Amino acid sequence: MDGVVRMSPVPARQRQAGATGYLTIDLAAISRNYEAIAATVAPVKAAAVVKADAYGLGADRVAPALYRSGCRDFFVAQFGEAESVRQHLEADTRIYVLNGLQPGAEVACAEAGIIPVLNSMEQYKRWKSTALAQGRVLPAVLQFDTGMSRLGIPPEDRAAFATELAQSSAVEILFIMSHLASADELDNVQNAEQLAEMRKIAVEFPQFGVSFANSGGVFLGVDYHGILTRTGIAVYGGALTAGQSNSIQPVVRLDVAVVQTRTVPPGTLIGYGGTHAAKAEMRLATISAGYADGLPRCLGDRGAVFYDGVRLPIVGRVSMDSVTIDITALPPGTLTLGNLVEVIGPHQTLEDLAKSAGTISYEILTGLGHRYHRDYL
Ligand SMILES: *Cc1c(COP(=O)(O)O)cnc(C)c1O
Repeated sequence: MDGVVRMSPVPARQRQAGATGYLTIDLAAISRNYEAIAATVAPVKAAAVVKADAYGLGADRVAPALYRSGCRDFFVAQFGEAESVRQHLEADTRIYVLNGLQPGAEVACAEAGIIPVLNSMEQYKRWKSTALAQGRVLPAVLQFDTGMSRLGIPPEDRAAFATELAQSSAVEILFIMSHLASADELDNVQNAEQLAEMRKIAVEFPQFGVSFANSGGVFLGVDYHGILTRTGIAVYGGALTAGQSNSIQPVVRLDVAVVQTRTVPPGTLIGYGGTHAAKAEMRLATISAGYADGLPRCLGDRGAVFYDGVRLPIVGRVSMDSVTIDITALPPGTLTLGNLVEVIGPHQTLEDLAKSAGTISYEILTGLGHRYHRDYL
């Protein structure tokens, strides 16, 4: 992400004696990102997606920060997540469950005032039965599949839904929605194809507003905004459509401590499987985070960390709790027990790390784990 404000190193006062890794989460940056998106789509409302514990960053802290920035609509994936996010939000918020309800969760959902996204006639019928049994109207959102084949009402069921909704008002449909499969690719024709399908659906269900855009969708333009956008990754500082400028700022910084250093002669094998043999004398440092902390195993002999702006390659395989790095490029004695190296920060963005692991920022963020000392700014 070029031209963005970089986060400063972990201030010493936030370091906790003995901690081996520090995950710094800039709540103010989350708020600014949300506010930038809200301003981009205004007067359309901007919801926030806080599923998977707010993409791994802690929904208990993130959701209230978003509330203070004016967000009142929150999406999670599962009903259990909705129940826990509910505890951190005021009563004037709406919480929607994207994956809908599993059979048996309907009564608890109705009692908790949580809004299911209904993805099929079967889910709708169960929700309607609950409404009739309780003698009240229950709210819901209807999701339609516009070409992703993941979740949502398939085209062949639309006519039956139109007939059903004309006959029954036990369920109050707040709006209809669909999800974009390729919104992160500006030029992908699938975007326009899905938009065309969504417009057909809007004609078939003219009484309802439409929610369509995720983070990428927001930047595809106003045609995609509908009445409510649903952004996740952009709020958390993930890069959006390649090459497009926007005001999204980084949110996380990850620093990991050195737990041991050594110098090894040529030929020394490094790490599990002895897959890496030192070609010359090398100085090594082992840092205290591994794949159990969300550093993918595929970063072995591929990824790097940084110290003072110097790139330090990962050598050998990534272990569960540690990674060994080549520190030969640094003057001897520079890195010792307790020093912190940058895994995500000014020299290696979240996106850079994801790219070297052959994945996306979403997967890195949601995998970061709970062994780091967390600082919320
Ligand atoms: C996860 C999700 C979003 C948010 O997507 P981002 O790309 O993170 O903005 C929006 N809508 C649905 C249906 C989702 O599953």
